[in-house]
Amino acid sequence: MRALGFTESILHVDMDAFFVEVERRDRADLRGRPVVVGGTGGRGVVAAASYEARTFGITSAMPMVHARRLCPAAVVLPSDHRKYRAVSEKVFAIFRSLAPLVEGLSLDEAFLDVAGLRHHYPNSAVIGVEIRARLREELELPASVGIAVNKFLAKLASEAAKPDGIRHVPAGESLAFLHPLPVRSLWGVGEATRAALERLGVQTVGDLAEVPPATLKRHLGASAGTHLHELAWGRDERPVVPGSAAKSISVEETYERDIAGWDAVEGELLRHADRLAGRLRAGGVAGRTLTVKIRFADFTTITRSVTLGSSTDVARDLYRAARDLLRNLILDKPIRLVGLGVTALTPATAPRQLAVDRPAKWDDLADAVDKVRLRYGTGSIRPARMAEDIERED
Ligand SMILES: [Mg+2]
Repeated sequence: MRALGFTESILHVDMDAFFVEVERRDRADLRGRPVVVGGTGGRGVVAAASYEARTFGITSAMPMVHARRLCPAAVVLPSDHRKYRAVSEKVFAIFRSLAPLVEGLSLDEAFLDVAGLRHHYPNSAVIGVEIRARLREELELPASVGIAVNKFLAKLASEAAKPDGIRHVPAGESLAFLHPLPVRSLWGVGEATRAALERLGVQTVGDLAEVPPATLKRHLGASAGTHLHELAWGRDERPVVPGSAAKSISVEETYERDIAGWDAVEGELLRHADRLAGRLRAGGVAGRTLTVKIRFADFTTITRSVTLGSSTDVARDLYRAARDLLRNLILDKPIRLVGLGVTALTPATAPRQLAVDRPAKWDDLADAVDKVRLRYGTGSIRPARMAEDIERED
């Protein structure tokens, strides 16, 4: 039995406009003004935008040229990832000093499981308040905190709290909080899924909850259908896994000659997914969060991430998720690098949900390929360069 007030023991902490706020700490003249951090060259992209800049319609990953056009008065600063990494370490030191279990998602975002602190605090919201106060006092940085019964709801709660707020969703109010939200706020709902759901008349998460699971499976596939049904009812059993963002496995290639166009990128994603799956299985792990990286010839870089319905080490799942992530991207510039990586690794021996619609043959084939690779020793795990791959934040 948990003491009163600790039913909601998962916190999602997300720094607000992290890169911008780090820059602003040292520059009092930038406070209250629209500030954009990112690539300042002709083909640079926005890595982070202050909330003042966002009111002009500026969003991360937008071409900087476009951002400047939307808000000519915006102060544009080059990204300084070394600085952001150093500050991130201090942010995480505060998380770890307060919470027993911390799972980093990126430089400026983490899940905290505080159930173990139930004898030390009257309720979990007090811990969220304390974290925000310490980030503000010790680092002069704003953060938003969501508190709920599971990771999925805590993340939505922190989004609802932004900027510079805290949102506690009591267990009994989970569905009242969740159901009015637009369905695109669910993890894994990209444009294609959203369009399919719209054809079923689904606009909100509440609409989705009312669709019979059989119908969802028919339209979206067994795995995605089941997953979305669970989310629509606020169910998410994933534990907070300490430090998992510190480990990743990735495959990337810089091409001797730039590649161009969607077909070429798709081919590379397929090849990378195959190699990545091989490395995952060689290491005996499966991953849940997939990141795709595209670096253009002008060195601007775009990354896109998605957290999958369940951990996977299967090439086809990785490939499909990567392709979905990039579906709406305009790839009209020469590309020098394509990368594919996974984080949130779990031992492959741990129980994990298997996609119902995965043909056994695919696994068999992949296993056979792995055996050949292992013989030649190409499969390997290497430690993450956690920060390197994260070039933008929200
Ligand atoms: Mg953030």
